[in-house]
Amino acid sequence: MPSAPKWLFDTLEFLTPKLPLTEVVETVFLSKSVKKICFKGDLKNVQLGVGSFIDFRINDTEARRYTVSYADIEKGIFEFVVYLNGKGCGSRYMADLKVGDNIVMYKPRGDNRYYDKAAQRFVIFGDETSLALACSFLPVLKKNNHQFMFIFELDEENKNVPKLLGLENCLVIPKNFSFSKEDCESKLAVIHTPDWQEAKFVLTGSAKSGQLFRKVIKEKTKGNVFLHGYWLAGKKGL
Ligand SMILES: Cc1cc2nc3c(=O)[nH]c(=O)nc-3n(C[C@H](O)[C@H](O)[C@H](O)COP(=O)(O)OP(=O)(O)OC[C@H]3O[C@@H](n4cnc5c(N)ncnc54)[C@H](O)[C@@H]3O)c2cc1C
Repeated sequence: MPSAPKWLFDTLEFLTPKLPLTEVVETVFLSKSVKKICFKGDLKNVQLGVGSFIDFRINDTEARRYTVSYADIEKGIFEFVVYLNGKGCGSRYMADLKVGDNIVMYKPRGDNRYYDKAAQRFVIFGDETSLALACSFLPVLKKNNHQFMFIFELDEENKNVPKLLGLENCLVIPKNFSFSKEDCESKLAVIHTPDWQEAKFVLTGSAKSGQLFRKVIKEKTKGNVFLHGYWLAGKKGL
């Protein structure tokens, strides 16, 4: 629910469990449009998994969803990787956050549809808005010995960001990727190989790109697809 009347958000805020006051302790610009924001707070009794997210109340009538990219429960440290799209209130809010800011935020919520322990291989596709999800996936994929690859469609200025975040096995494709037969056969050749035919495909980021990629996967593989569009051109939140 990205937009709602103030009274409704006020009621939800009253009823929803919150983290005690948190503080921004570090911000790092990984590029002009990707910012890592590190908070400190009391994470006791907080459960975090792959893709756990927080709905930030941006103002009286708007909320936006962001993924927890990393957390150290003992130290009370947790991080976000945000894309500053420059168009919406969420982007402006995240751009303005600075060290020393104090925020009361909702407790993170989990989503168990991303990670499936039984899947041997994962292909994780997305854009800048999916980098935090990839960061939350990586330690679990490595710990449980899955084979995996990340495919990111990124703006030119962000093509090195996955490396800066320590992500491994990344293929970066341009944002205007056409998903035509030719493009897929040359750049996404791996999904045609027998080993990857039954991978779990997790598609996030642009809803439009996710739908196009899902079509290719359905045509070319026997893989299991989970698609969760994070944004859609012209639409507020998702
Ligand atoms: C479960 C979930 C987890 C998410 N995790 C993250 C995360 O960790 N990091 C992150 O950066 N985002 C994340 N997002 C996406 C983020 O919530 C959306 O991009 C959101 O729309 C941003 O809000 P806004 O107020 O900046 O823009 P909005 O007010 O929602 O939209 C304003 C305009 O900007 C456009 N727009 C929105 N996002 C983009 C974009 N990425 N690129 C180009 N145009 C855009 C919209 O289409 C609209 O025209 C997540 C979304 C979901 C559903």
